[in-house]
Amino acid sequence: MNYKSIFEDVKQVVRYCNQLPDNAPLDMFMWRDGWLNSKYAWIKLIPELIAELPEPVTFKIDEDSKRRFFDEFIVDDLLEDNYPDLQDFLMNIGYTEFFGKHLQKNYEFWDEIEERDIVIPKGTKIIKAFKYFHLLDDDLKELQTKASRIVQQDCVTGTLCLSVHPLDYLSISENISNWRSCHSLDGCYKSGNISYMLDKSTVVVYLRSDNKVQLPNFPEGLLWNNKKWRMLLHFDKDNKIVFTSKQYPFSSEGAFNPVIKLINRVFKDGEGERWFSHFQRDFITTSKSGKNTPEKLIYIGTQAKPLRSIVKQDSGNLAYTDLIFNESLKYRWSYGHIRGIYEDDPWEDDTYGFDKLYDEDSIISSGLAPSDTQITLGESVLCPICNKNRLYDPDLMICSNCEEAFFSEQDLNTRRKERFYNG
Ligand SMILES: [Zn+2]
Repeated sequence: MNYKSIFEDVKQVVRYCNQLPDNAPLDMFMWRDGWLNSKYAWIKLIPELIAELPEPVTFKIDEDSKRRFFDEFIVDDLLEDNYPDLQDFLMNIGYTEFFGKHLQKNYEFWDEIEERDIVIPKGTKIIKAFKYFHLLDDDLKELQTKASRIVQQDCVTGTLCLSVHPLDYLSISENISNWRSCHSLDGCYKSGNISYMLDKSTVVVYLRSDNKVQLPNFPEGLLWNNKKWRMLLHFDKDNKIVFTSKQYPFSSEGAFNPVIKLINRVFKDGEGERWFSHFQRDFITTSKSGKNTPEKLIYIGTQAKPLRSIVKQDSGNLAYTDLIFNESLKYRWSYGHIRGIYEDDPWEDDTYGFDKLYDEDSIISSGLAPSDTQITLGESVLCPICNKNRLYDPDLMICSNCEEAFFSEQDLNTRRKERFYNG
């Protein structure tokens, strides 16, 4: 694998998405060394940098993600400000019927404009029913497009990849599948992608399309894998434990087992020493009296410990770490067991331990879940121009000194204003 040429690509992406002039002397050697050093064990396990499951997988959207998409749609500005009757209609039918695509029973409402009762018949396609609510042509088209995009995005099929490839860190939220996050390369946390690339814990898993594509914020001609779905995994340095983070664009219960299967495949093919059982369910959450934020707890060793005592972020981290900050999400974790420690060695199984489900009690009592486990998320990042200053601005991949050296005051103001509004 030619790391030098990979980091030439990284350089082109950084130049492009930070709108840097051609003469800005980017030098990637610090990032390259940092990445090689931090991901060393993974690079040994996956010399190609990306491992895949041979057969395609399909992930179906969970109920809570359906509800979230629906809730976001019904407070869409255009809808809320102009079409309260349509909003009422949607609130009355609810998210299940919305995703079911057709009306389950007649819908009756009083039409203020025509001054009469209107009945939309059972079986009508829901996005077709929008036209009963007197929308302007352009608005009708816009809302129908948005709605159909939401209901069609209820499952994704593709090849499951586990990657430590630098371009996959850069593109953790780049896709042509209609989703984005604050880690998109035009988003306010794009430098955080580099923090993940350089840390000792983060690995990217995603579903890719069959062919490489032109991603929205990659320079023209640099084709890369389209992420139809993605999730970050955070491992401790000895790979004893792994945590999952938020799934994009939606969460799917069906994603967890294939991900475990792929992790175990990587360790087996790489002749690693560990295998992982299924992902454990939610954290135990308690609300301490006098505190607004519930404490996330996890059983580790023999006792429940606060998540924040296990998972920390580096002081120079630039990423928005869902695992720490997103209180609304539930996470999973899995323990990595040492190969051969059980009589019934799961490595003998062709499915790479996939079907071996362990009961939690035996894990805790055997003490395999170590009580000293620590995970540090997101490494600090040096400016790739001066290779001296640390980055502090999560939405700019060079330091402000170097930015000032390459832009006039007027250009700087425009750039900063743009970043402010995009953020
Ligand atoms: Zn600099």
